[in-house]
Amino acid sequence: MGNSELTVQQPHPYPDSYYAASADISNLHPSLTDSVETDICIIGAGYTGLSTGLFLAEKGCKVVIVEASRVGWGGAGRNGGHLINGFSGGMAYLEKALGKDKSDSFAAYHFEGTEIVKDFVTRYDIDCDLKAGQISAAYTNRQLKGLESWSRMLERYGITSRAMLDKREVQKKVGSNVYLGGSFDETSGHLHPLKLALGEAIAFESLGGKIFEQSPMTSIERQGGTIMVRTTNGLVRAKKALLCGEGYLGNTVKPLAKRVMPASTHVMATRPLDDGMLKQVLPADTSVSDCRNIMDYFRLSADKRLIFGGGVGYDGATPADIEATLRKNMEKVFPQLKGIQVDYAWSGNMAITSNRYVQVGELEPNVYFAHGFGGHGVNNTHTFGRIMADALVEKLDEYNAFAKVPWSSFPGGQQFRIPYSVAGSWWYGLRDYLGI
Ligand SMILES: Cc1cc2nc3c(=O)[nH]c(=O)nc-3n(C[C@H](O)[C@H](O)[C@H](O)COP(=O)(O)OP(=O)(O)OC[C@H]3O[C@@H](n4cnc5c(N)ncnc54)[C@H](O)[C@@H]3O)c2cc1C
Repeated sequence: MGNSELTVQQPHPYPDSYYAASADISNLHPSLTDSVETDICIIGAGYTGLSTGLFLAEKGCKVVIVEASRVGWGGAGRNGGHLINGFSGGMAYLEKALGKDKSDSFAAYHFEGTEIVKDFVTRYDIDCDLKAGQISAAYTNRQLKGLESWSRMLERYGITSRAMLDKREVQKKVGSNVYLGGSFDETSGHLHPLKLALGEAIAFESLGGKIFEQSPMTSIERQGGTIMVRTTNGLVRAKKALLCGEGYLGNTVKPLAKRVMPASTHVMATRPLDDGMLKQVLPADTSVSDCRNIMDYFRLSADKRLIFGGGVGYDGATPADIEATLRKNMEKVFPQLKGIQVDYAWSGNMAITSNRYVQVGELEPNVYFAHGFGGHGVNNTHTFGRIMADALVEKLDEYNAFAKVPWSSFPGGQQFRIPYSVAGSWWYGLRDYLGI
């Protein structure tokens, strides 16, 4: 998916996804055509931008969000919808940022993003089909042992929400015999991701926030104490700015382009399943992902479609036939769905960092960024939305801790990161195939 998509000027540039077809996308925000002034300008209306904006608006700040396309057009409106507890990069990242002596607080980070989402959904009455329950499923004994030691590790930090399931228990919840067991978390869950983004946008605006859609930021510079965010046809003068273009920012801000690599993953939605088939496929209505390096992830929509995702394409490459790629995987897990009609198939970009840690930082004084949420952003963007909102009102302690974690470029730099990563992906795919 190229960056040129960002400049499309039409009322409905959302991808042809089940989400765009089942959400109310009629609330078109104006494009920025003149000059506006604000306290804080946020670039990108995905979850990072929207949640930071919402936290700031709750604190009484004047905030403008400029979005290249539409609210939730990026990963936020395309993802699998799995809301899974955990911190991107895990306890290792928290130890690097906060130090081992702060390990008493790690459990709070593990749950924070999920709790923020649930809190927004409740407080702002966001109808996004939120459901409870998530299974991490194991194909091999080695993966099962990995899940067991993961649970034991979490317990050492006081996190006891995960329960191990044997093969029979998994089969009661997931109508497939490919898994040897799994781990279940009742406090994780799943939701309609675009409805969540659109609901957050409405909440943000209800508190005075302003959103400009189809207004791609083209440059960002400082004039004296003012940050000048230029869009194709307008200008925002702000005291501070936050860049959160994630896997869609492209080369617009060169120092950020070398820090992350866009990677695509793909999702499809079957036709709605009838009651008989539902019982055979996902009777527990939880979200499920497996433990392989290149995993399948699936769940049911509110109207009972199987939303099945998987695959990875480096630098945002999309397969010529998304449905064919995913159907093969889906029919291995659920042979009972062989030949089922697929109504929608789409792809989207995430941004990954070389060590898989989220990166936050300051490009120059008062110009911040937050990116690198990979495939675990529904939860973590909201945690970092809270952290970045605090930073933007000068509560900098937590931000400083995460900003100091060292980062490294991809091996091979921007030119050779794809061959390196493709080789890596092939290797991990082979390991999955061999079950090691
Ligand atoms: C197919 C897919 C499946 C996924 N499944 C899951 C899942 O099940 N669970 C999970 O936790 N995570 C999942 N993820 C990851 C998750 O969606 C992301 O981590 C999350 O959306 C990141 O949010 P964000 O706000 O940082 O970025 P995005 O949601 O990608 O938003 C970035 C926004 O910035 C805008 N933008 C970019 N450049 C500019 C510019 N120059 N000017 C203005 N605006 C700009 C874009 O248009 C976009 O709207 C998935 C991702 C994809 C793509």
